Amino acid sequence: MLLEMKNLCKTYGETIALDRLNLQLTPGIYGLLGPNGAGKSTLMKLICMLIQPTDGIVLFDGEDIRMHRNNFLDRLGYMPQHSCLYPDFTVQEYLYYVGSLKGMHKKEVALRAEELLLRTRLIAMKKDKIQTLSGGMQQRLMFAQADPEILILDEPTAGLDPQKRLELRNLIAEYSKDKIILLATHIVSDIELIASQILLLKKGKLIKVDPPGALTSQLTSKVCEINFSRPLKELEPYGRISSIYRRKEDIFVRLILNDPAILPPQASFVYPTLEDVYLYYFNDEEEVSHEHFSL
Ligand code: ADP
Ligand code: MG
Repeated sequence: MLLEMKNLCKTYGETIALDRLNLQLTPGIYGLLGPNGAGKSTLMKLICMLIQPTDGIVLFDGEDIRMHRNNFLDRLGYMPQHSCLYPDFTVQEYLYYVGSLKGMHKKEVALRAEELLLRTRLIAMKKDKIQTLSGGMQQRLMFAQADPEILILDEPTAGLDPQKRLELRNLIAEYSKDKIILLATHIVSDIELIASQILLLKKGKLIKVDPPGALTSQLTSKVCEINFSRPLKELEPYGRISSIYRRKEDIFVRLILNDPAILPPQASFVYPTLEDVYLYYFNDEEEVSHEHFSL
């Protein structure tokens, strides 16, 4: 199974949402990491054929997905961003909604929804609102989409409490065998333990594709730690502060160095985390305050 993106571009007027993206996905869990506005949802909508590329092509097993639209969409599961915004949906409405996103006709959607409700043992709850379901049931519902081989999850953990986040993470890991799972997030901990590859997307460009361990080792001798109780401003010339923490009575500052040869006095190198990697590549990004909810 191979999902390929070749020279994929998407522009909205002047905005380049996705810039000549080339990527090959075989079964595994891919963490698509990037700040708001990086183009994560755009990439996912292109794969799900909800929007058309400005240029480029998506291939599944060597064939243009547009040539085999229905067959491809049958094998694909998609959880859109902000689906937690629809807690008022009933189970059935949610399945209809997702089906219509996939471009299914009404009759087909109804049939498929019934089938899925049976398979996920949610048939008795079909008229219940999503928010009244238990966490486990909600997740069954989420994965109810035809047992797809390709699963596209757009910020699935947004709005979940830590316990549910964990459950979802485990579920994804458990479910991932022989599947292509692409999971977008801007939260490192969602993926650092489960992703086989991390894709860093910055301003529409794919800047890194590597296993988590490779990404962190690339920052070796770029991160240091220092016991520091003076004004933080004094550390500014050395690099960017990644985090500040307390150990007993001492305050420690974690610093991503501008120049590995120039450490603050008394600082020592530490092993980088994926959090450091994120800050290293994205710290200069401004959070985009507005988002497009349109599909
Ligand atoms: P992410 O999911 O990483 O937050 P998006 O793919 O939603 O990023 O957005 C990428 C860029 O494309 C942003 O600059 C965003 O404002 C822009 N964009 C996304 N959707 C639309 C749209 N429907 N119309 C205009 N601009 C859009
Ligand atoms: Mg998004």
